[in-house]
Amino acid sequence: MKLDRFLAKQSSMGRSAAHRLIAAGRVCVDGEVCRDNQREVDRFTRIELNDGTVMQQPERALYLMMHKPAGILSATTDPVHPTVLDLIDDPDKQTLHIAGRLDRSTTGLVLLTNDGRWSKRLMEPHLHVPKTYLVDTAEDILPEAVEAFAKGFYFHTEDITTLPALLEILAPRQARLTLHEGRYHQVKRMFHRVQNRVMTLHRESIGRLHLPDELAPGQWRFLTPQEVAFF
Ligand code: URA
Repeated sequence: MKLDRFLAKQSSMGRSAAHRLIAAGRVCVDGEVCRDNQREVDRFTRIELNDGTVMQQPERALYLMMHKPAGILSATTDPVHPTVLDLIDDPDKQTLHIAGRLDRSTTGLVLLTNDGRWSKRLMEPHLHVPKTYLVDTAEDILPEAVEAFAKGFYFHTEDITTLPALLEILAPRQARLTLHEGRYHQVKRMFHRVQNRVMTLHRESIGRLHLPDELAPGQWRFLTPQEVAFF
C-alpha cells in the first residue's frame, strides 16, 4: 500500500490532508522523514508522525531457511506427523508459512516466512526461480534422459508440458536436476517417465540460496538481509 493511502485509511484524514502532512515532512517511515506519497509500506513498516504519534508499530518480518529431514511434513500443522514448524523455536513461529513445499520423504532446503509478498515473488511462476535437486535413482540413468528432461514431459492432470529442465548425470544412479517450476511430485513423475524411480531426493538450492553444509538436518537459521534481498 502507498504511504498516502495508508495515512488516509489509518486516521480519518482524507488523501489530500495526508499529502499535506507528508509534504510538510511530518511523517517518518522506519525512522526517517519521508516526503514520497507513493512510498510502499506494509505491516512490517514503522510509521510515525514527527510529534511522536505512532501510526503503525511494525510486525517482525521473519525469513528462515531449514534443512528439512526426511519424515517431517512441509506443513504448519498436522494431527499425526511432525511438521517443519515443530522444529522451530521462535515465539512468532505461528505466523510462518512455507515458500515451496517438499514431500515428506524429501530432504533439504525449505524456506519459511511471514512475508507473503516475499514468498509470492519467490514462487511467481513466470519468474522461473531455479531449484536444484540431488536425486538417487533405483535404475541407471540413461543418457537419453538428459534430452527427454530438456524437451519436457506432458502432464495430463495439469494439461501442461514441463519447462526445459537440466539433468546432469553425476554417477550411474545419481543426478543433479534443475527445475524452473514446482509441480506436484514433479521430480518423481519426471523420472517415472523415463522408466526410473527416485530413491532419495534432496533440494540443494532455490535461486541463489544454497543449503549451507553446516546446517545439519533439522536445523534452521534466519536469512541474512542480503539473502532476503535475493528475491
Ligand atoms: N519433486 C518431488 O517429486 N518431490 C519433492 O519433494 C520436490 C520436487
